[in-house]
Amino acid sequence: MAAKKDIRSLTIDELKEILEENSFQSFRAKQIYHWLWKKSSHDFLSMHNLPEKLLTFLENNFVIRKIEISRQQKSKDGTIKNAIKLFDDLIVECVLIPSKKRITACVSSQVGCSLNCKFCATARLKRMRNLNADEIYDQVVLIAKQSQDFYKRPLTNIVFMGMGEPLMNYKNVTKAIEMITSNEGLGMSSKRIVLSTSGVPKMIKKMADDKVKFKLAVSLHSAIDETRTSIMPFNAKMDLSQLRDSLVYWYDKTKSMVTYEYVVWKGFNDKEEDINALVNFCKKIPSKVNLIQYNSINDPNFIQASDETLSKYISLLEKNNITATIRMSRGNDIDAACGQLANK
Ligand code: SAH
Repeated sequence: MAAKKDIRSLTIDELKEILEENSFQSFRAKQIYHWLWKKSSHDFLSMHNLPEKLLTFLENNFVIRKIEISRQQKSKDGTIKNAIKLFDDLIVECVLIPSKKRITACVSSQVGCSLNCKFCATARLKRMRNLNADEIYDQVVLIAKQSQDFYKRPLTNIVFMGMGEPLMNYKNVTKAIEMITSNEGLGMSSKRIVLSTSGVPKMIKKMADDKVKFKLAVSLHSAIDETRTSIMPFNAKMDLSQLRDSLVYWYDKTKSMVTYEYVVWKGFNDKEEDINALVNFCKKIPSKVNLIQYNSINDPNFIQASDETLSKYISLLEKNNITATIRMSRGNDIDAACGQLANK
């Protein structure tokens, strides 16, 4: 017998069609969807407004897959890292990051990653598979609940900065975001969602064509091809000129500014020419720069640049009217910070 299908992989129209084919009324699809997404129900029998015959049909033909916390760690700064077990026993991580004004969920989009950024711990895991839309959605539901349980505050923001490259799993990431923002789902504002990509030009153009409403962040780290390729090898094929073109296209279509994520490493991208290249890159479209503190992954080649170097970056960017902020690391005592997620 074939394995039962995960019911949340169906669109509402596909569900309607299946119901009709099996002589159930199609309006039931909306009720089922409400239980599956809005109420995050993982048990058909709890769907008490459905007739018994339909419940039996659903039980016999579908499953509702679940994610489970397999390990939880709390940092001294309040950050909570969850190791999540998926239906096939693979593990991904997602993180709750509390601050005065916000509670942010950092979610994963893939198990492992196919890109090979030299400074990122996730790159040491091979890419196993893409997450399904419901697995991405469920990370957000889980963190929203944690936010209430631990902090008595609602989740306010979501960042796709966990494991994986979200633009290499575009279909499922955008379906998850659709459900997160829809009133049929969590009803969160898309303005509070940031997708962070290492920069896949073709997919940035696709996002622009699709007129997505969430925000875009690009992990730049260097605006000089040779330097960038040495730490982000895929840059050899998808180089900065292609990235720049795709971002100009993005801005033309969406009028939404881009944030560049940028770590400054000692002896690597800390020279005047590095700063000038970044300033020039930033001038192409309205953008701002987020200087991320480097979180050690125990590689002696990478050392965080000094505060003095960071100040140089900031003053030159500001002189050119480009906003620059420094993002301090959160949760690094439990390896929950950017680039440290590796299922340890
Ligand atoms: N694949 C996506 C999202 C995951 S990484 C992307 O590349 O954007 C989220 C951010 O953390 C990226 O900006 C990434 O470059 C950065 N990062 C990775 N390793 C890091 C490390 N060791 N220290 C600080 N930031 C890191």
